[in-house]
Amino acid sequence: MPFSALGLSPDFIKILSNQNFTLPTPIQQAAIPAILNKKDVLGIAKTGSGKTASYVLPILMNLQHTQVLKNRHVNVLVLVPTRELAEQVKDVFKIFSPALPVPVKTLAVYGGVSINPQMTALQNVNVLVATPGRLLELLDSNAVHLCSIETLVLDEADKMLNLGFKGEVDKIISLLPEKRQNILLSATLNEDLQLIHQVLLHDPLVIKIESREDSLEQINQVAYIVSEVKKGPFLRYLISHHEMKQVLIFASSVHTADAIVNKLRKNNFDAKAIHSKKSQGARNEALYLFKSGKLRILVATDLMGRGIDIDQLPFVINYELPRSPKDYIHRIGRTGRADSIGEAISLVSPDELHHIEVIQKKMGKEVKLIDSENMNN
Ligand code: ADP
Ligand code: MG
Repeated sequence: MPFSALGLSPDFIKILSNQNFTLPTPIQQAAIPAILNKKDVLGIAKTGSGKTASYVLPILMNLQHTQVLKNRHVNVLVLVPTRELAEQVKDVFKIFSPALPVPVKTLAVYGGVSINPQMTALQNVNVLVATPGRLLELLDSNAVHLCSIETLVLDEADKMLNLGFKGEVDKIISLLPEKRQNILLSATLNEDLQLIHQVLLHDPLVIKIESREDSLEQINQVAYIVSEVKKGPFLRYLISHHEMKQVLIFASSVHTADAIVNKLRKNNFDAKAIHSKKSQGARNEALYLFKSGKLRILVATDLMGRGIDIDQLPFVINYELPRSPKDYIHRIGRTGRADSIGEAISLVSPDELHHIEVIQKKMGKEVKLIDSENMNN
């Protein structure tokens, strides 16, 4: 989806392309239209996912028809935990401000530097980016008033709470007009933040962008050591023993994928393969059946596995390990999505043992190794 589909004016699109922002990031795709619509937004996405532009762009766009406020009244307040971030966010506002027909003034204020120049600069400011402590000082000396705020942003809200800003933030919020738009951005959603957002946000759009590392936390990883010849029977044992209602099985080649399906079907397991040698029609059908829950077992090669996105897929089995650790992570990421726990099971032959070590190192996570010979199956 291009930026132009999100409701931003052509002048924004021009600057975006000058900045080499070709496509919106996932958080931007979700947040921009909602913020343009004046909705409250809670955005959770990891560092580096483009959270700043996700609010800067629509906020500026909404300032297009803004009225001139009384002096020392501001339209938008962005609270951030650090001086560096204040500067950074202000810079992003400055980059995109020329997209507006009317000039918009952005100012960053923070502690650790002299307060007087900030007091002077607080004339006709539309967007104020501030750290909480310094803002309270400026409020105390009547250098700024918050009663005209239309939009409040808490950026890096998790850090703000970690650094103990809660009291100050609460005090600032109590000075804002009741009717306003609230936007809260964070890399994580911890318990303190849960509390704040419940108090602060009204019927918010909650956007949670899962990163691969996040979802790995939701996956139990087990590897069974099984000799090559026993993999077939062991696979069937696992499917029955765990009463798997649905399972996605990965094979490293078209040939193995077909062989697994044949063996399963011979043993009365409902299975289909999806790989590059199948016709498009056959692939679509297999995927459709699997997604709609009408097919119990789908056997895929890595290439085909990429496009598969199924909610709540509880089990993924690696019949053999993929050569690249990246593919391993990608494969197991098919389970444990959203807020559900998934189980990723690998069948590892003794000569693949070294490879599972490599994968664990690359992924920075341990996989529980179990010798299938010691099991009573
Ligand atoms: P976050 O606040 O989520 O940590 P930032 O907003 O600081 O992330 O963005 C991280 C980097 O990505 C910045 O250098 C920013 O310029 C860049 N960036 C943001 N959105 C895009 C995009 N759509 N296309 C290309 N680069 C982007
Ligand atoms: Mg940020």
